[in-house]
Amino acid sequence: MAKAIIIGAGIAGLATALRLKKKGYDVEVFEANSYPGGKLHVIEKDGFRFDTGPSLLTMPHLIDELFELFENDPKKYFVYKKKDVICNYFWEDGTRFSAKASLDTFVNEAASKFDEQASTISKYLKKNQLKYDLTAKLFLENSLHKMRSYLTKETFEAILQIYRLDLMNTLHRTNEKAFGNKKLIQLFDRYATYNGSSPYKTPGIMSMIPHLEMYYGTFFPKGGMHRISQSLFELAKEQGVVFHFEKAVTKIILKGQKAVGVETTDQRSFGDIIVSNMDVHPTYRKLLHEVDAPERTLHQERSSSALIFYWGIKKTFPKLDLHNILFSDDYEAEFNSLFSEKDLSEDPTVYINISAKEEATDAPKGCENWFVMINTPGNYGQDWEALKLKARRSIIEKIDRVLGTDIEQYIVTEQVWDPIGIESDTSSYRGALYGAASNDRFAAFLRHPNFSRSIKHLYFCGGSVHPGGGIPLCLLSAKITSDLVSNAKK
Ligand code: FAD
Repeated sequence: MAKAIIIGAGIAGLATALRLKKKGYDVEVFEANSYPGGKLHVIEKDGFRFDTGPSLLTMPHLIDELFELFENDPKKYFVYKKKDVICNYFWEDGTRFSAKASLDTFVNEAASKFDEQASTISKYLKKNQLKYDLTAKLFLENSLHKMRSYLTKETFEAILQIYRLDLMNTLHRTNEKAFGNKKLIQLFDRYATYNGSSPYKTPGIMSMIPHLEMYYGTFFPKGGMHRISQSLFELAKEQGVVFHFEKAVTKIILKGQKAVGVETTDQRSFGDIIVSNMDVHPTYRKLLHEVDAPERTLHQERSSSALIFYWGIKKTFPKLDLHNILFSDDYEAEFNSLFSEKDLSEDPTVYINISAKEEATDAPKGCENWFVMINTPGNYGQDWEALKLKARRSIIEKIDRVLGTDIEQYIVTEQVWDPIGIESDTSSYRGALYGAASNDRFAAFLRHPNFSRSIKHLYFCGGSVHPGGGIPLCLLSAKITSDLVSNAKK
């Protein structure tokens, strides 16, 4: 039987392992950490449970598909429920808005809160849907780097309507053209952060991101986000995928222009195809010394990173829901700090995720588990100890101002993950959460393909390659990669 070797057991590595197993490969996964999941991990501390990375789940059908592939009922492994509230938004001037999942309710409540016409908001949302419908097949579901992806009816239709995709405007400009209310603009600008980009730079086509959230909904998995990686790992083991933990691959073995195996410090393993779920930057720099790296791709600007405080809070806050955003007063200055100055804003937007709102056992009685995150620049050698102190202070001041509390006195346990930790724990270059940023209208085309152009039998999956970062896109990358493997065999 042909053998596939996968480097990394992140969500994309797990999904690729399953898809290749289904295609008849023997699959071996080498993982540097002692656990699967990469960024989708968990910490438990002093009676609190925290998901370390992703907190927002959209398009869970992409996870179900993997169980269905093996004729298993997904519900046996992975149960989730749809949220009625997408996110609670807070502004410093006391404005509050709870964004509802029901589209009609969202439109009517947003119209009344932000003094916009309901028809204007509906028109904007419909245009977002059109952008998604026109481009998803080409940009998200197929390789952008194979000619056959372009020779389709869908691509032809997208080209005919290219003027409707807002490729020449930034997301912020697109939103500014749609709405007069600054807070509603900010609410829709925020979606640029879903792929670690700036709304002042990323193209207006990114307004398809809220469509995904509003059309498919947002979900919470029973047992927390960590259940996603854990349940896929369980399925993979059941299907006979072999895992080697604490085995960092140090080299991809080449024979001429073909990838034939991998090397760790104490082992060599050979296979018919090699798939790297490791960030594409260190894959070239550390595992493929002899190969000419695709420099233009590797020099692409990286997405934002993050600073996360995991706080056990000895109090409950009924005003807060699962997802909460406390907006910065000057959003443009915040993104300017992140991407131009590589510094933290004085007044960062603060995201608070509380999974105990859905899963009571995630915190002791009368307490909440707060995942408090701000976007940061990548790790460019800044003094992170000083930046963490500065961030902690400004986050606490903001929470106190906006929620009218004195949060410090309720923090009973604390752990922090910073860009250096994200980089070292997951090998993500500069600690980027989503690989390359989409701060350029050509970013999608510059992202690394799911295959190597110069080395045969070498493939790539995960957030640093096509179609991009975030759980849904990582799962799509696994599908594209495994389809490329099958097509190459034909
Ligand atoms: P990773 O999860 O980075 O996994 C790569 C794996 O490869 C790691 O396990 C690593 O140890 C292993 N590896 C690396 N090098 C080697 C080597 N040489 N040998 C062996 N193994 C190796 N996404 C969302 O959809 N929703 C969110 O709400 C969200 N929020 C986020 C918040 C944070 C704080 C973070 C960090 C990320 C967030 N993301 C979110 C992004 C999401 O987590 C990622 O896009 C996704 O998990 C990336 O998966 P991956 O498979 O590409 O890689």
